[in-house]
Amino acid sequence: MPYFIDVIIPIPLQKLFTYSITTSESRFLKAGMRVAVPFGKSKIYTGIVAKIHNQAPTAYQAKDIHQILDDTPIVNQKQLQLWQWISNYYMCTMGDVMRAALPSAFILESETVITKNKKTVDESDLKDDEFLVYEALHHQSSLKIHDISNILDKKNVLPVIKRLIEKEAITVEEEVYEKYKPKLVRYVKLHANFSSENALQKLLEDLNRAPKQRDVVMTLFSVSAKTKKPVKVSDLSNESDASVSIIKALINKGILEEYHIQTDRVQYSGDDNEATKNLNNHQKSALSEIKKSFENHSVTLLHGVTSSGKTEVYVKLIEDAINTGKQVLYLLPEIALTTQLVTRLQNYFGEQVAVFHSKYSSHERVEVWNNVLQNSAKAQIVLGARSSVFLPFDNLGLIVVDEEHEQSFKQFDPAPRYHARDTAVVLGNMHNAKVLLGSATPSLESYFNAKQNKYGFVELMHRFNDVLMPDIELVDIKEKLKKKRMKGHFSDRLLEEMTETLKAGHQIILFQNRRGFSPIIECKTCGHSPQCPNCDVSLTYHQYRNQLRCHYCGYNSAMLQDCMACGSQDLDNKGFGTEQIEEEVKLLFPDYKVARMDLDTTRGKYGYEKIITALEQQEIDILVGTQMLTKGLDFRNVKLVGIMNADNMLNFPDFRAHERSFQLMLQVSGRAGRTEERGKVLIQTYNPYHNILQQVSTSNYIEMFNEQMNDRYNYKYPPIYKQIKITLKHKDYKRVDDASIWFAKSLRQVFTVNVLGPESPPIGRIRNQFYKNILVKIPKQQHLGKTKEAIIKINNSFFSIKGFRSVKVILNVDNY
Ligand code: ADP
Ligand code: ZN
Ligand code: ZN
Repeated sequence: MPYFIDVIIPIPLQKLFTYSITTSESRFLKAGMRVAVPFGKSKIYTGIVAKIHNQAPTAYQAKDIHQILDDTPIVNQKQLQLWQWISNYYMCTMGDVMRAALPSAFILESETVITKNKKTVDESDLKDDEFLVYEALHHQSSLKIHDISNILDKKNVLPVIKRLIEKEAITVEEEVYEKYKPKLVRYVKLHANFSSENALQKLLEDLNRAPKQRDVVMTLFSVSAKTKKPVKVSDLSNESDASVSIIKALINKGILEEYHIQTDRVQYSGDDNEATKNLNNHQKSALSEIKKSFENHSVTLLHGVTSSGKTEVYVKLIEDAINTGKQVLYLLPEIALTTQLVTRLQNYFGEQVAVFHSKYSSHERVEVWNNVLQNSAKAQIVLGARSSVFLPFDNLGLIVVDEEHEQSFKQFDPAPRYHARDTAVVLGNMHNAKVLLGSATPSLESYFNAKQNKYGFVELMHRFNDVLMPDIELVDIKEKLKKKRMKGHFSDRLLEEMTETLKAGHQIILFQNRRGFSPIIECKTCGHSPQCPNCDVSLTYHQYRNQLRCHYCGYNSAMLQDCMACGSQDLDNKGFGTEQIEEEVKLLFPDYKVARMDLDTTRGKYGYEKIITALEQQEIDILVGTQMLTKGLDFRNVKLVGIMNADNMLNFPDFRAHERSFQLMLQVSGRAGRTEERGKVLIQTYNPYHNILQQVSTSNYIEMFNEQMNDRYNYKYPPIYKQIKITLKHKDYKRVDDASIWFAKSLRQVFTVNVLGPESPPIGRIRNQFYKNILVKIPKQQHLGKTKEAIIKINNSFFSIKGFRSVKVILNVDNY
């Protein structure tokens, strides 16, 4: 009987490709293994076997596979099922999903070049298959892993390569070698003598005369103090800008302890596991309500106000799940992953926690992948950003989606444009796992699902320790300007509160949703303002580098001395970003320490942690920052939060802008007065009577929900209607204009109502590509699958029209 396999290849073509295999290969091959397959005239791709069957393709002659790369599947059945769901729901190809799902090292390594090691090995040490490859390298100095297919009779090549590397018979390219070579990595941690606050203070004082060494200690402390986990010497040296010899000096002084840890780079077991906290009564009843809710709702929403202690409730659920031997996935927004929460969970669960996020190298991600695949205790709890939904779980018992309202759970570009929260719900279903969505400001989608009884619903409305919700005051800037009560961007009210807070020894957070110094430079003489040459946006002035920069494409140029249009030197800054606020604060409060947290100050592996730790350690009095500040941070001494300007968020042209402003403002406010005294929040605005601001100032989620849902209903927006946004882009405006008109017209022939556009988005050109949007609104009761089929059909005929082929079409399901 002939055998065939369907293979997923990482290219954007709708269908899978069928290859033929031999009978002996069919005995060995399983779905989820990697194979190298020929494609087109000369290409070889690494693909994943989706299915083994005996149906010859009708449209073409199936080619033979090139080789089998694995011994055992690296992707399991449930994953393939999830990929299929994503591909259907989000209207993308299986290849798109594969590219997002697999760490790139899995694909690259099969294309790696191998060479013989200089050192000679004892050939009798080599197994038969190992010897075959080794011998081949006598004749050819280097081979691609793909090339050795006939040597090994196509079988499980990568495992053989791995063994040869371990035996030091061959080498592979640096990057890949890193992954397999047995090696010792140098780590250091602060000596236990300095673990108390006092001892550390004393040490820092002693080191005042050795600022470089002091810096190393501070950096080390900020990244490893609470976990007591050693830090890689090379990371430490990069991060603190200190040479390795400075670190050595600290080791010699006995201040740092040195470790050599073998190979396992991702995890290291902390020594002592802290006991989980006893819940207070509110938390206890929330926990038991959640458990009860799980009996008939596998998905439950926990609406718990900021600082109500949601995390500790999750911890109890996690404990339960791992005690029954199940795996746990804890999803978090990317940025929240680098800090406090990871430490908290690692203190409780030690080495059972694996972290998975994009700052890790592809090889580190492979390591987590393999640990999950082997159902290893080292990855029983995975803390991860959105892409961790793709890990090879086999035995999930619980998924927590923390800050479930976060926009960053949605991937915009490239495809698959999936939403990790919604994907997690599907994933949970496949595993029969419980899914808990948690937030102080739930998305309308989830809250609506809870109201419809589709999801279970539990509330936790008391802050821990019964601290009151912060007192939120709206400050009318228009009034203040009229009465001349503004200093720069600070109202007298904000300055008063700041002065008082600082005097009392407390800390302040100032929120401004834009980075840079000012988003628009305008000539006072002729009104000209410098624009990005590639995008339809103004360039933002960054004072620190004295540059003008485009936040969309990265274009930059030196700041202008005079107007490009008329030569006048009278240039004006319009609007303001975090840099400008930082500068003003420094002038207004010269005796206090000010820092800034935004994309520009948090690059580098530990950039973000360093600022967080400095704030925790009260080395910073006033922190100015963007929405990075909102991601689940917990500071004891922050008593005042100032929102510098509420209006630009509210006016953002997006149907979710009001919902998001509410969430953002309430989340930042939630950083004030978390554990003892009540905190204070001041929101500066030109429009204090805006409904959203009124709702924020009374923390009235329900009112916000009802009002927004009303709008969503009236304007046919999610979650009342389903939406698919179709974006077309091309470098030629006329082309994209014609194409989008054609597309919309074809849609209207199928869907007589509810097709909007085409329209140019607010920023009509980015990176020299012109954009057009078309919106399809689909009533909830209508079958989404049918609509999608129709769209795909139109899309296919679109590409058969000459001239349209080069237009890129982007399908965004749910229009996040
Ligand atoms: P949320 O996630 O709801 O914003 P957290 O879980 O961060 O709240 O809790 C807020 C603060 O209260 C944290 O500092 C946390 O350590 C503390 N906390 C919460 N629950 C308990 C508890 N049961 N015992 C002691 N401290 C707690
Ligand atoms: Zn001018
Ligand atoms: Zn640009």
